[in-house]
Amino acid sequence: MPEPPSDRTTVKRKPQRAAYDRATIDTILDEGLICHVGFTIDGQTFVLPMIHVRVGDKVYLHGSPASRTLQALAQGAEACLAVTLLDGLVLARSALHHSMNYRSAVLFGRAAVVDDPVEKATALQTLTEHLIPGRWADVRGPTDRELRQTQVLSVPIHEASAKVRTGPPLDDEGDYELGARAGVIPLRLAAGSPISDPRLKAGVQAPQYAVDYSGPRSVPPLEGG
Ligand SMILES: Cc1cc2nc3c(=O)[nH]c(=O)nc-3n(C[C@H](O)[C@H](O)[C@H](O)COP(=O)(O)OP(=O)(O)OC[C@H]3O[C@@H](n4cnc5c(N)ncnc54)[C@H](O)[C@@H]3O)c2cc1C
Repeated sequence: MPEPPSDRTTVKRKPQRAAYDRATIDTILDEGLICHVGFTIDGQTFVLPMIHVRVGDKVYLHGSPASRTLQALAQGAEACLAVTLLDGLVLARSALHHSMNYRSAVLFGRAAVVDDPVEKATALQTLTEHLIPGRWADVRGPTDRELRQTQVLSVPIHEASAKVRTGPPLDDEGDYELGARAGVIPLRLAAGSPISDPRLKAGVQAPQYAVDYSGPRSVPPLEGG
């Protein structure tokens, strides 16, 4: 089993829930639609939600070059990215043993500005496909001007950890005889039926990948410790 890559990525509370293998970390990064990006400017820490996508050994972020977040990261601020997938509410027999089933990944690193046009275009294409597979081929691609106006950053997946909780509640032994109902309420991100843009050109049908879209997640594990 892979070891934690650094002291700051080592899960100390409930280390049995930790994973440091890339397959686990990559699955969480790939299923998450957003990450939270933490960084510090002049002693003030910010944590902001952003769209991300993983391509190989890097996570890509994008946005306006005017974004304070992207500027700080481009200038070398230490970043911490967190992706959280919520899999269930864990209802225990005692109030304080209630919990959640989750899969989360935390990644430390410094971002690099992506200037290479091929890498930039690949990142933006993969990002669009990450949101909804099949979309890129259906829409107008970015112009050179749009590409210039879009900042793309990459963060290497060198220092990363995952933490995963699965399974039923863990009650105190003496509480298993209590009458309170206990167990797990599974949670999933649900997609509704596509809603057409009011300015949609007449006759344009929703593509099948939009009609069939059922969320970014595969079935999470339900068993385990
Ligand atoms: C689901 C989601 C996905 C997003 N994806 C992207 C993305 O891929 N790229 C991108 O550039 N931006 C994205 N955003 C917007 C992003 O969170 C920032 O608002 C934006 O990047 C501007 O960043 P800034 O550093 O210039 O913020 P500033 O405007 O400088 O922030 C100033 C202050 O405004 C408040 N603030 C800023 N953003 C938020 C927020 N989202 N929610 C609540 N308060 C806020 C905070 O107090 C912050 O300190 C996303 C937002 C959401 C909710």
